[in-house]
Amino acid sequence: MDIAIIGCGPVGALLGNLLGAEGLSVDIYDRERDVYPLPRAVHFDGEIMRLFQSAGLANEIKAFARPGTEGTHFVNGQGRTLVRRQHDDMASHNGWTASWYFHQPLLEGALRRGLARYPNVRVHLGHEVGSVDELGHRFVIGCDGARSLVRHAIGSRRIDLGLNQPWLVVDLLCDLESARVQAIPAYTLQVCDPARPMTAVNVGPARGGWRRRWEIMLMPGDDPAHLTDPEVFWPMIARWLGPEDARLERAAVYTFHSAVQEGWRKGRLLLAGDACHQTPPFLGQGMCAGLRDAANLSWKLGAVVRGEAPDSLLDSYEVERRPHVRAFIALAVDLGGILQETDRAKAAERDRSYDGSIRTYRYPQQQLGLGCRLDQPAPVGTIFPQPCLDDGRLMDEAIGRHFAIVGDAELLKGLRTSAVVLPGVGTEWLAEHGAKAAILRPDRYIFGVARTRDELLAATRRSPASFGLLWCEPSSS
Ligand SMILES: Cc1cc2nc3c(=O)[nH]c(=O)nc-3n(C[C@H](O)[C@H](O)[C@H](O)COP(=O)(O)OP(=O)(O)OC[C@H]3O[C@@H](n4cnc5c(N)ncnc54)[C@H](O)[C@@H]3O)c2cc1C
Repeated sequence: MDIAIIGCGPVGALLGNLLGAEGLSVDIYDRERDVYPLPRAVHFDGEIMRLFQSAGLANEIKAFARPGTEGTHFVNGQGRTLVRRQHDDMASHNGWTASWYFHQPLLEGALRRGLARYPNVRVHLGHEVGSVDELGHRFVIGCDGARSLVRHAIGSRRIDLGLNQPWLVVDLLCDLESARVQAIPAYTLQVCDPARPMTAVNVGPARGGWRRRWEIMLMPGDDPAHLTDPEVFWPMIARWLGPEDARLERAAVYTFHSAVQEGWRKGRLLLAGDACHQTPPFLGQGMCAGLRDAANLSWKLGAVVRGEAPDSLLDSYEVERRPHVRAFIALAVDLGGILQETDRAKAAERDRSYDGSIRTYRYPQQQLGLGCRLDQPAPVGTIFPQPCLDDGRLMDEAIGRHFAIVGDAELLKGLRTSAVVLPGVGTEWLAEHGAKAAILRPDRYIFGVARTRDELLAATRRSPASFGLLWCEPSSS
């Protein structure tokens, strides 16, 4: 037994799949038997679909997730757009559409079914872990959500980034025949109305109609216990829909938090997902961040458990991931400040400050903190694009769970290496970045780039953390 994962939410379940593919012996525990039934995530991005691809689950997930190119608009109380997500962000770098909308229970079901492919992964549902000491001396990964037991055992320090606000979250099953349903914009609406801030998301087809998400900020005087009473709920969204257009499917009140922990590892204990960071959902990225954690951690755990890399490789995990988590939460808090303004005078002043212009924002792209990569500027530390190869496959299919070297065919000729070599792949993109070859880690993040063969050979030897995982020699001929 190599690894225990506490929590079989989306992060624990994806990590279980990735570690199953690494061939490790894994036990996953969850106190609940069924997936969480109340409304939570509805959006993931193209990098996350690429990650599902790496877990061999993209086709299954594509069958129920809706690709979305409509974007997000922050509108004022009169419906004028103040802020929107930059359109060129929609062009996918990862070989997949840049935004997907989905129903979280379906996703969690697909991830759990994926675990059944691995005889080396055992799932213990209805099993609450009371203490990490119960799990023996193996690695214990806390994917145990916002009230993490493992986080307490580590004693990590919470950094509160300032936003803590209750919201009502409901899923509606809408009647597609309704003219009012058809009139709602297809893009995500962030309604910055000081009378009642809210978010409306176009989720996708569902049995019994079309699912739309409404997230509605609680205002002073609201009684959380009665917010979904018909006479309270429908008037709040009357400008779009009424009970004749849609049926309330499920609802919950959450307090949105913005916090990141310092201390994601202590010896054999590690954290991933909501256990080590929580963001308000305005960017649709909380779960995505946790799934990126799983991707970063899985190949490192595989290498360390198999003895191919030193234990210190695991120390690069938090160093690499935390800056991106913080950047996303900071942007969500910033945009949340626009959305959650309830002072009418300040909201009017805010609207005037836009003076007819529209602010745009992009998703912060991850550049890994300085962990297992060369100390070079971007694109080193960013994710390499995923082109389609001449044989029709997406690039990652040709690489599997290995290091890879891509780039100029002449420069790579005759190279003897443990990495998968893909001559001629990504050369134009590399040329735009002043390089001829790139070394990709098993999670497709760029370990280093090179302009010459000597630089490439030197690069493969420069990271002690990658010792044993990657070697490279000149041609023997
Ligand atoms: C309203 C809302 C909207 C959101 N929208 C988005 C979105 O659009 N996109 C996005 O990316 N994210 C979104 N999120 C965030 C996303 O839902 C969470 O980040 C994600 O579910 C966290 O996954 P996790 O696996 O880390 O934790 P969880 O899903 O909380 O799973 C933790 C699991 O651990 C189990 N557990 C805990 N303690 C123990 C124990 N001691 N023993 C055994 N089992 C235990 C629990 O039963 C649970 O199943 C949203 C969240 C909310 C609330």
